[in-house]
Amino acid sequence: MMPSRKAASSLPLIDLEEFYAVLLGHYGDPMWWPADTPFEMCAGAILTQNTSWKNVERAIAGLKKLNLMTASAIARTAPDVLEQVIKSSGSYRQKARRLRLFAQFVLESYGGRVEQMRGVHVDTLRRELLSIHGIGPETADSILLYACDKPVFVADAYSRRIFGRLGVAPGDTGYGALKSMVEGRLRADAPMYNRLHALLVEFGKQLCRQEPLCSRCFVSSRCRYGLNSLNVKKRVSEDEDE
Ligand code: SF4
Repeated sequence: MMPSRKAASSLPLIDLEEFYAVLLGHYGDPMWWPADTPFEMCAGAILTQNTSWKNVERAIAGLKKLNLMTASAIARTAPDVLEQVIKSSGSYRQKARRLRLFAQFVLESYGGRVEQMRGVHVDTLRRELLSIHGIGPETADSILLYACDKPVFVADAYSRRIFGRLGVAPGDTGYGALKSMVEGRLRADAPMYNRLHALLVEFGKQLCRQEPLCSRCFVSSRCRYGLNSLNVKKRVSEDEDE
């Protein structure tokens, strides 16, 4: 059945698979989330809450310098010492507490080895992670994807902004709804989700910023927001020329 004119006008101009292929073709394989161990990936996911990766890098370097990048080492480190080591990541008291709670969880449930978590069903593991105080959906999904190789979409602020502008999902779509929508449309492929998240972050930083650079964007002809904004600019410049 043909979509009605109204329904057709609200359809995205590019589908997710195609958008992913376009991003990958433009930026190449991002090979993202550098970390020496799965536990370090988890620590990074907790430390990066509400701060830049630059600040997280200093905290991670401090933990590694003192040989604290394991669940057992973090669990036995005094809270005030841990707070000082990760201070650069901001909200350091909260984050030190979250790191300790996560370390205790890995010790008690998985013998201190994040690798053991990979054998558990994604829904069970997600529930367990969300039950740890201070671990929200975005941090849990980052841990599931990057440390546990689970095919989940991390529906962060970049993806909400980009998909909203492209018309893939309304801009006010909540975290869970966007995650379900994307996972419902793409194949369950962890490396693909890993690359997609990294590519969206890159695209959101370089072009689809808070103030988007639509005139330089390589998908502007397939983006509702981009087409509108470029048409408006064109009309304004034509008016000025008259
Ligand atoms: S055209 Fe503009 S709004 Fe659309 S994706 Fe590109 S930068 Fe973002």
